[in-house]
Amino acid sequence: MSPLTRRVLKDTYQLSKRYVFISLIAGFFSSVYPLVSIYISRRIIDLLGRNTPYETLIRFILIGLLLVFVSQIISGLFNYVHQFEQSEMYQRLELSRNLKSIAMEFRYAEDPAVKEMRQKLTIIGFGGPGSFEMIAYSIKSMVGYTVSILGAAWLILPAFSYHTGTIYDSPVFLLLFLVLLALSAYLPHRYNLKQNAKMNKLLSTVESSNTVFNYLANLVFDPESGKEIRLYRQQERVNRWFEKNTDPQGSTARMLRELVYGWGKVGLLSFGSNQGVILFLYLLVGFKGIAGGLPLGHIVAATAALNVLIAVLSELITDLSIIRSDSSGVQLHYEYMDLPNQTQHGSIPVEKRLDNDYHLSTENLTFHYPGTQRNILHDITIDFQVGRSYAIVGENGSGKTTFIKLLTRLYDPVDGAVKLNRISADKYDTNQYYSLFNVVFQDFDLFSFKLGETIATNRDFDEERIVNALRDVGFMERFNSLPKGLETSLNKEFDAQGITLSGGEQQKIALARAIYNDGPIYILDEPTSALDPISEFEIYQKFQQITRGKTSLIISHRLSSCRFSDEILVFDQGRIVQRGSHEELVHIPGKYADLWNAQARHYQEEDIDLTKLGLDNTIV
Ligand code: ADP
Repeated sequence: MSPLTRRVLKDTYQLSKRYVFISLIAGFFSSVYPLVSIYISRRIIDLLGRNTPYETLIRFILIGLLLVFVSQIISGLFNYVHQFEQSEMYQRLELSRNLKSIAMEFRYAEDPAVKEMRQKLTIIGFGGPGSFEMIAYSIKSMVGYTVSILGAAWLILPAFSYHTGTIYDSPVFLLLFLVLLALSAYLPHRYNLKQNAKMNKLLSTVESSNTVFNYLANLVFDPESGKEIRLYRQQERVNRWFEKNTDPQGSTARMLRELVYGWGKVGLLSFGSNQGVILFLYLLVGFKGIAGGLPLGHIVAATAALNVLIAVLSELITDLSIIRSDSSGVQLHYEYMDLPNQTQHGSIPVEKRLDNDYHLSTENLTFHYPGTQRNILHDITIDFQVGRSYAIVGENGSGKTTFIKLLTRLYDPVDGAVKLNRISADKYDTNQYYSLFNVVFQDFDLFSFKLGETIATNRDFDEERIVNALRDVGFMERFNSLPKGLETSLNKEFDAQGITLSGGEQQKIALARAIYNDGPIYILDEPTSALDPISEFEIYQKFQQITRGKTSLIISHRLSSCRFSDEILVFDQGRIVQRGSHEELVHIPGKYADLWNAQARHYQEEDIDLTKLGLDNTIV
């Protein structure tokens, strides 16, 4: 048994002990009852030949029938239960893969190659040669095969060992029989291996079509893309794309045809060789019966058992070739499951401090995304003073979001370090480290759960604190109009009465979630981009109170909001090129003044009086 197969068996046992036990029992009984019935027939026929008393015969027949009946019932029952257990085990397996998807380091979660691996695993799933599912399924059949082979051998062997005093007792016949049997099993097996290689090729071709298919299926079901598809009149294009990608040049159909022909050939080959073995045994037991009195019951039992043996051998060989021919499925499974988890790094607990003295800093932070060469951040060294608020500004693509992904440890630096209280961030327990941050990402995601749960990120929540957070972000008016209050579902996936929030309202909920989290560090990436100016102004004012005594970093494109921050950090091409207050920066030529002037001109054109926003109307 290969180490990988052993690992599958161990993991299957861990996923569901019950499944393994039921498989063993179901495998045993479904194979044992055909043998029992052959054995009973043999005994009855032999007893008949020996003028056995009528009562003994009847008793034997009744006991025999009862045995067959009971083992058949047990087998049927366990096979039935096995199906349930199997589907439950598969569900657990899929769940474990899904849990892995959210446990793995974020850089893998974002990697398209890893996403493809995940899709491939489900596609290969049950039926894919060498998949985890197939090996787990084979527990039952392997037990069954063992029982059948041993039982059939026990029923066939007397045909060879029975002493008739003729030439047919010679062990040469047994040897010849075994050779023929081995050949009849081996030849189709070899051919099967080739077939499975073809099958895997077909699956990998289908897989790219499936990626497109899944993408398109999501596209057509997603109401968001539904808007674009209609307004940009994309229906035809989606249709053509779909047709083109599902079976490029009909190659999958051709491959499938070849596979079917191949299976036909395997069938013919095994049928031919099996008939050879059967003919051999029939002739032998026939001659032994005529010449040396081999009992009729033995003849019937041996020939019937041979049919069982041949059928089982061919199934066994097929299964073995499926399991072993190409273990790409199970290899892929473990490649995926063995990707490093985010929490596998540090172990130092984050100190609980009431004074919020969590000091965040970076040293020579340098970073490029995995699989790329271009540095996105260069050598950034900065100390964030506890309790101070920072505005991060810069053109699109200057590395602001990437910087916060590194501060929050979604990615590890290529060089340099992020530090918390002067200790490298990756030394800390990941979950405890995460809990320090109240984050609103630019592309934040709200799950379709109930409002209360969504904000608290937990089923148990403090209602009063949630309502306070909702008040802070200016959501109260809307909240009061919700009949189910915090029990209102977001979106309609799980609840037809769920509410659909506008972009601005969603942003308010994401902000409320950050406030409720109440960690010592706020990181907000364009948190108010979808809000109207009045809501934005109010929220920024509120945030000054909320973040008092805490460190806060706010990325913002609206430079007018920078006045709420103690210090502005200007990013340009992955570097912090300027830092200071608005007053300090706006009067000196540089990136900040450029950004400011561009925006101030816009404000002037719009006739917005900046002095009302607490700024002067300076243009350098
Ligand atoms: P900003 O927030 O300042 O607009 P980002 O940090 O989002 O800038 O992006 C900086 C650069 O990093 C961009 O050129 C972007 O294309 C690149 N980038 C962002 N995310 C990824 C990613 N997952 N893989 C590769 N490159 C990325």
